[in-house]
Amino acid sequence: MTARIIDGKILAAELRAKIAAGVRALTERGVVPGLAVVLVGDNPASEVYVRNKSKAVQEAGMRSFDERLPRTISEADLLAAVQRLNRDPKVHGILVQMPLPAGIDPLKIIAAVDPDTDVDGFHPLNVGKLKMGLPGLVPCTPLGCILLAKSVHPFITGMEAVVIGRSNIVGKPLAQLLLREDATVTIAHSKTRDIAAVCRRADLLFAAIGRPEMIRGDWIKPGATVIDVGINRLPGAGGKTRLVGDVAFAEAAHVAGAITPVPGGVGPMTIACLLANTLQAAQSK
Ligand code: NAP
Repeated sequence: MTARIIDGKILAAELRAKIAAGVRALTERGVVPGLAVVLVGDNPASEVYVRNKSKAVQEAGMRSFDERLPRTISEADLLAAVQRLNRDPKVHGILVQMPLPAGIDPLKIIAAVDPDTDVDGFHPLNVGKLKMGLPGLVPCTPLGCILLAKSVHPFITGMEAVVIGRSNIVGKPLAQLLLREDATVTIAHSKTRDIAAVCRRADLLFAAIGRPEMIRGDWIKPGATVIDVGINRLPGAGGKTRLVGDVAFAEAAHVAGAITPVPGGVGPMTIACLLANTLQAAQSK
């Protein structure tokens, strides 16, 4: 079997076109959705990520407010900056880029963001709402994973879903979203016994581990849909680096029914879902 490649770039472009139409409609009513991204310090990977986000925000017709703060900022001053953004009527979404410098408690900063502008969906109130099945802002990467899976299976009710990874950013919220879709969900992690056997049960397999190519071809149920969240940088040709996922793509593509590539799968959908959350926040303000 050769798997169908789930093209995250195409799906993200379709979603972004719909979002841009929603932004135009809202702008005609006098509200231009605005996203503020807070970047502390000068981590090169975060800089690139924030630049890409700002570009996508502007392309969608939204306003982008980048708040660049020095690595030496105190926790109190960062909290004050977040409070200022909470009060700014032009800002509908706030995202604080992680990781934060040592000495700043990320949980305190996340909890300071107004839950209605928390477009990352990391605020404890939004985490609780997701768990209780209440409407609210949900994390972008897991939301992107669900949309990618639904592009293959519009109804995932009753399907056997396995999520490898239980982080607060990806694994846990993804499992909650799958439950909301009435999938039967297993979460596996570093202490799971015989993880290959657990993976082989999955109709839908989600890998959010951060271990390059850990999921092998023979761990995959024939015909399964595989969504690879992992982004791992390995040494490549000519001193450059190359990106690989958590799934051994070439092997997996022989067994799976459908699979996301890395790059070009979950990554583009994450940014599109951030735009969707910002529009949602602006619509409900
Ligand atoms: P994380 O916080 O490091 O969590 C990794 C999870 O994988 C943990 O739950 C850990 O289990 C589990 N794990 C680690 N080694 C394992 C093993 N050998 N067997 C089974 N489970 C294992 O990572 P994350 O933030 O969730 O991110 C996961 C990956 O997704 C990373 O590659 C990251 O770069 C990528 N990512 C991509 C996007 C995107 O937009 N495409 C967004 C976010 C993250 P324990 O809990 O037991 O330690």
